[in-house]
Amino acid sequence: MSITIMRKVAFCAGHRLLNHEGKCANLHGHNYLVEFHITGNEVDDLGRVVDFADVKRLFKGWIDDHWDHGMILWDADENALAAVEQVRPNKIYRLPYNPTAENLARYLLTKIGPQLVSTIRGYDLIVSKVVVWETDNAFAEVTADISQHQSDAMLNQVNGYKRD
Ligand SMILES: [Zn+2]
Repeated sequence: MSITIMRKVAFCAGHRLLNHEGKCANLHGHNYLVEFHITGNEVDDLGRVVDFADVKRLFKGWIDDHWDHGMILWDADENALAAVEQVRPNKIYRLPYNPTAENLARYLLTKIGPQLVSTIRGYDLIVSKVVVWETDNAFAEVTADISQHQSDAMLNQVNGYKRD
């Protein structure tokens, strides 16, 4: 069995797409909405996969600290980085690739999500999907390979029994 909960996190940020063929090459901003989907295999005594308050504290907390009201730029975008660094104060987040909705979702799913869920007690949780809405009409969705995760978990269990 798997059970998934989802928490939305809204934030505002600026970015640009380096080498974009059109207007997205200009510095501009979006009102983003992120959906964090978290999946577990069991519920606790209260019936929760994970407490929504923990999800808010960790995931909204990370977004607020690192991306909200900041500039998200590709770390290869020396021109934009140099420009924004001139501004005092500034809040810049360097991404290892162009800050498209697809890449923001990928980064949250693969880099940030695993760090954050690993701090939640007890259960075998995974960030199973991240959806980044860049506008009301456009989103990108990145999904984890849950079957791989589950087989890894089973393998760990089997290996655990072998050690005993
Ligand atoms: Zn944009």
